[in-house]
Amino acid sequence: MPIHILPENLVARIAAGEVVERPAAAVKELVENAIDAGASEIRVECAEGGRKLLRITDNGRGIPSDEVELAFTHHATSKLADDEGLNHILTLGFRGEALASIASVSTVTCVTRHVDETAGTLLRIDNGRILTRERIGRPPGTTMTVENLFARVPARLKFLKSNQTERGQIDGVLTRYALAYPGIRFALTHDGRVTLQTQGSGLLRDVLPHTHGADVAERLIPFTNEPGAGTVQVEGYASLPTLDHNNRSKIQIFVNGRPVQDTRLAYAVVQAYHTLLMTGRYPIAVVMVRLPPEDVDVNAHPTKAEVRFRDPDSVFGAIQRAIRKALLAAMTPPEPPSVLSAVDLPGLVRPAGEASPASDETIEPPRATGGDPVPRLWERPAAAAPLRGAEAWERVGISRQAQEAVRQAESGRDAAPLPGALPALRILGQLANAYVIAEGPEGLYLIDQHAAHERVLFERMLAQRELGAVVSQSLLDPLPVPLPSDSAWLIEENLPLLHDLGFDLESFGTNTVLVRAVPALMVQDDLPAALRELAGDLERGDAPLQRDIESRVLRRVCKRMAIKAGRVLALSEMQALVRDLEACESPRTCPHGRPTMLQLGLGQLEKQFGRMG
Ligand code: ADP
Ligand code: MG
Repeated sequence: MPIHILPENLVARIAAGEVVERPAAAVKELVENAIDAGASEIRVECAEGGRKLLRITDNGRGIPSDEVELAFTHHATSKLADDEGLNHILTLGFRGEALASIASVSTVTCVTRHVDETAGTLLRIDNGRILTRERIGRPPGTTMTVENLFARVPARLKFLKSNQTERGQIDGVLTRYALAYPGIRFALTHDGRVTLQTQGSGLLRDVLPHTHGADVAERLIPFTNEPGAGTVQVEGYASLPTLDHNNRSKIQIFVNGRPVQDTRLAYAVVQAYHTLLMTGRYPIAVVMVRLPPEDVDVNAHPTKAEVRFRDPDSVFGAIQRAIRKALLAAMTPPEPPSVLSAVDLPGLVRPAGEASPASDETIEPPRATGGDPVPRLWERPAAAAPLRGAEAWERVGISRQAQEAVRQAESGRDAAPLPGALPALRILGQLANAYVIAEGPEGLYLIDQHAAHERVLFERMLAQRELGAVVSQSLLDPLPVPLPSDSAWLIEENLPLLHDLGFDLESFGTNTVLVRAVPALMVQDDLPAALRELAGDLERGDAPLQRDIESRVLRRVCKRMAIKAGRVLALSEMQALVRDLEACESPRTCPHGRPTMLQLGLGQLEKQFGRMG
């Protein structure tokens, strides 16, 4: 529709306010305009954090020559017709405010050519006054150049931060739109240097390495909700539990292509990691929510960064479930039921070292006789098919915990740590010197002895840590440990932190650390090897936070000290281990987020044995 001035009554209904308070806000508005104009390529150039110059060039449909002045008038828009239009907005802009606001506090040069016209227009406006208007040649599209933003508004200028901060804000804006629109080629330069560039392949996967870095992108997994599960569609990428962040800022949520801030939806993402991340740690995620425009009110906030949903619960649930499902599937636990299917049973207690039989058994099933309702053993009806990934994990109860967490979140309570919900188990034996076999009210449990012990030790150390007293044990003879120079340096850098975790270390000549005491758990450990590993944990990641390092060190200690696979356990040892595990807050995953156990329900056994028809 042509650009027109909105009627008074409609203006009154628009949640207007100050839209341009810093360069990044101007960039946001101009990039939104380029996207709304259907551009497939958007270039943003900045000088001095945007205060000297901002230039946004697009190859969109351009502005008709006779509407250019109008575009710079308050409440002039081509995107909203009437009241009714407010209920299903598909464009990013709709208030007709941005260009007028920007042009009133800077010098703007607009060069634009509409696709259907043969010549373009140049319009130059200085702090609200039109200076020049010319016909000019250019390919279809628009270039908006904003110079000396706020130069004549000292009050505003005063609130701008350093160039570096303003640059960072602009980077944030471009990053968000690059994620939201993978089909658009974005390029951002600051003072001539390219800081972001995307290909416009149309795939979010291709954008992630540019916005998050290749190493992070590698550890993001895709998720999506079931098609046809209502009108809310959710997809995106989320971090594996091995990757986390110390706040929620890396949870990015988009609703119908619009970046939004919504603490509740961010909480849905966090909830999907319940028991998989330590408290105080947050995932990294890019979440795309799509739903019919009439189900979301984008007119709730002046910067359009907050939206209101007609049915917030369904959006919350869709995000939480989609991410949870992907995480559980990605943790790819072994597939317990397949070893328990009838044909494989003899292999169950297989001597170590012997190859397992091929998983796809070559017994030819007889052709189905048609309409026979009694499942035969070899038919493996769908319901009794071996469970894979997520499904197997549903059985382990994680999904139940997750649902519980959602219910808690929904009812507004803080998600208190859930009770372990491990029933009392009876030990049956040990399998392959690695798994404890146990029986409980719900069937068979296979417990990974190493992972389970890691969990037990970790919660014990966390508890000690919280009390400010990790139990430390002095060595009878202090032990000098020579280390590679970078390791020695890292350890020396972190002596106070390590001290809080029970290590009493001292630098001792060049590249040697004198060990006086270690966490009690570790007295038996191979200390030189342990210190080398610890140095590795101190190093990973750039400038990790104290908290990060602490939890890594604790996890490392537990991993080293947990009983290994391959060790024969006496019945009493297994009983003690399982009792300790039952007492854990998160008994079902190890500190690294991997499962500690698998469960096979009685109902499932009955199906496998063909007892249920
Ligand atoms: P809004 O985006 O809310 O409509 P703006 O003040 O941002 O308000 O823009 C006013 C109008 O100018 C838009 O409705 C659009 O018709 C036109 N316009 C602005 N920027 C562009 C662009 N880059 N390409 C094409 N048209 C544009
Ligand atoms: Mg706009």
